[in-house]
Amino acid sequence: MSFISNRLQYFDSGDFQRAIEKQSELADPIDLSIGIPEELTAEHIKAAGIRAIQQDKTSYTPANGLLDLRAAIARKLVDENNLSCSAAAVTIVPGLTTGLLLVYLALLDPGDEIIVFDPYYPPYPHLASMIGAHVVYISTLPTFQPDLPSIEASITDRTKMIVINSPNNPTGAVYSEKTLRKIASIAEQHNLLVISDEIYEHFIYDVPHFSIGSIYPNTITMNGFSKEYAMTGWRLGYIAGPQEIIDAINQLQQYVVMSSSSIAQHAGLSAMEHRPQLTVKYKQKHDFLVKELQAMGYVIHGAQGAFYIFVKAPHDLTDVEFADRASDYGLILVPGRAFSRLHGYVRLSYGTDMETLERAVKALAKITALPPPSHVVNLE
Ligand code: PLP
Repeated sequence: MSFISNRLQYFDSGDFQRAIEKQSELADPIDLSIGIPEELTAEHIKAAGIRAIQQDKTSYTPANGLLDLRAAIARKLVDENNLSCSAAAVTIVPGLTTGLLLVYLALLDPGDEIIVFDPYYPPYPHLASMIGAHVVYISTLPTFQPDLPSIEASITDRTKMIVINSPNNPTGAVYSEKTLRKIASIAEQHNLLVISDEIYEHFIYDVPHFSIGSIYPNTITMNGFSKEYAMTGWRLGYIAGPQEIIDAINQLQQYVVMSSSSIAQHAGLSAMEHRPQLTVKYKQKHDFLVKELQAMGYVIHGAQGAFYIFVKAPHDLTDVEFADRASDYGLILVPGRAFSRLHGYVRLSYGTDMETLERAVKALAKITALPPPSHVVNLE
């Protein structure tokens, strides 16, 4: 008999694990599987972390984080995202993903329903299932835009929240202000909370970012330092929302986290003083990959933001078959099933450098031109 809790049945990180294994097996892998930006943490941020250590700023901070950092985040949310927000309504967490679990623990009871758009960032449904909530999936195929009538139709008297992620992982879809206003109006009508994960807000091309929290007060806005500041390993994120909810999360933080890393928080404060300008560089990579994929015959939906493109595998290959074919050519992709209940797609990440993207495009052209596997050949 196993000692492991049944809760773990909801997690299957096998596809990510396999991508990492392939990376180590291949002599010179072309890695489009990673969900991290190519930049390194900036020198001034590293220096601020080192200074914090040297100046013994290494004890617990308040459970909700350093006041200066919360104040800087609140200012940013007011100035850039048009939220109504004070430092007290912000809480610092050790990464957005841990923050999501805290939000769920604070708000969801077993049997509560939560609406998640498919494809999704895997923790949205799986953490909710783990704590006994019921996940209602709404497919966003084929455009990766949420279908508003489907949202309405899926609401019951147990529905508590809708999770939104724009720009989106894994599709790169960006939801327009119009769409977000409609979602806000549905949420208001049914008294639902909205969780808005905006971690890719600065990776956006040709369309503007809109924060649903600016028009709908029952929004929990989540963000973090991992992507914009290339600080994935520092583990620093934040949550802003209605005071009652932030207070409940802070209560949990006291028992679950004690405090986020003081060193990361001091580094984060320095990070916010010099915002990196990534849009031009990432737009170049985005435009290159989109153009090349279209030339190979791929139909691109989404891909207005983040650094991901989610494409359908050619020849009706399954996502795993396509990822396997790709790895035969040294190219590492994550099969779409890691992000979706719909099969047949793969995620390409252009977080990586231009040279890798150029190699990836050459490999993809060869893989795409391969004949279909025997099981899909029409023998008539
Ligand atoms: N949210 C989304 C949509 C992501 O894609 C990721 C990472 O890939 C995260 C959150 C992770 O954020 P953090 O590093 O702050 O936990």
